[in-house]
Amino acid sequence: MRNRPRVRDDLAMMEGYHSPQVSVDVRLNTNESPYPPPPAFTEQLTAAIADVAWHRYPDRVATGLRAKLASHYGVRADQVFVANGSNEVLQCVLLAYGGPGRRAAVFEPTYALHSHIARIAGTEVVTGERTELFALDLDVVRTVLEAHAPEVVFLCSPNNPTGVVDPPETVQFVLDLAQVYGGLVVVDEAYGQFAPSSAVSLVSDDVPLVVSRTFSKTWSLAALRLGYCIGPSWLVAELDNVVLPYHLDAVKQIAGTLALDFRREMDERVSLLVEERGRLVAALRDLPVTVWPSGANFVLFRPEDRDGNDVWQALVDRSVLVRNCASWPRLDGCLRVPIGTPEEDDRFLAALSEVLA
Ligand code: PMP
Repeated sequence: MRNRPRVRDDLAMMEGYHSPQVSVDVRLNTNESPYPPPPAFTEQLTAAIADVAWHRYPDRVATGLRAKLASHYGVRADQVFVANGSNEVLQCVLLAYGGPGRRAAVFEPTYALHSHIARIAGTEVVTGERTELFALDLDVVRTVLEAHAPEVVFLCSPNNPTGVVDPPETVQFVLDLAQVYGGLVVVDEAYGQFAPSSAVSLVSDDVPLVVSRTFSKTWSLAALRLGYCIGPSWLVAELDNVVLPYHLDAVKQIAGTLALDFRREMDERVSLLVEERGRLVAALRDLPVTVWPSGANFVLFRPEDRDGNDVWQALVDRSVLVRNCASWPRLDGCLRVPIGTPEEDDRFLAALSEVLA
């Protein structure tokens, strides 16, 4: 083409966020639930879809779904925002509170999409480092906030890819600091249900805190692309201003509302996965790897005295795909594995033992 339109200068060097799609027997690389939703959910959803008025736009503010999430969390419906995955929630937060001339703080290593979406939204990203054990370093948080007064501060609990949980006192500390500078604290709890604590109880209209969550993991609905956040009503109103009209389709609204009727089944799955996480971590501790304690549905580990990329490839050769974090900053040689079914985990453990033998 003679005069090809030039992409924004600040996007030209950016790479997308991808995880390799390799055809294998045991796919343990994107932290999904290993179990599909309960059959009764799928049956009821199929029946409900028959009644959708396809020629009409969906309820623009997803009234029913927000109300049901609100009662699930004991908050008001105007404190709930819903979107196409929690990634879209984060994007809306950055469209409303980030943007040119503004800053977002992240503490590495953490979920790469926080800085990726921030940059796409034209927000400058400022970073601090976590401790050796990947906990938040409160001195570093203070230094970063004092130096940059970021408009948005990202926490991630449990943190992806390390699994480390920030206890409520830590979130409160960051919140107190951020308030000095007028910053908004975002706690990404995509894996919150697997953890012993949550920041949801700290949310109120008087506090600049928003907690994002998703149906992708606990609710076994990654294919649906549905996420939400709980935050002050003034923040939710701003998110409603920046999101596209009718962004949440009718099927998602029905599916999300219905899924919340299956809370008991979902709680059971979470318990099963947490128990299986204990078994997986114990088994990994018997192998020549370093394992980090996890409050999520995945575990980070580093093979000792072996190149992480080689171990990853050797697992793929045995038809087991895990996430290769070996070349990610601060994660030299690390691999991340989500909790699968006991059979998948056995396949993974057998393959890893063989590779490390
Ligand atoms: N936050 C974190 C920490 C995640 O790991 C993920 C999924 N990889 C998301 C948000 C996005 O989840 P979704 O868009 O599926 O809700």
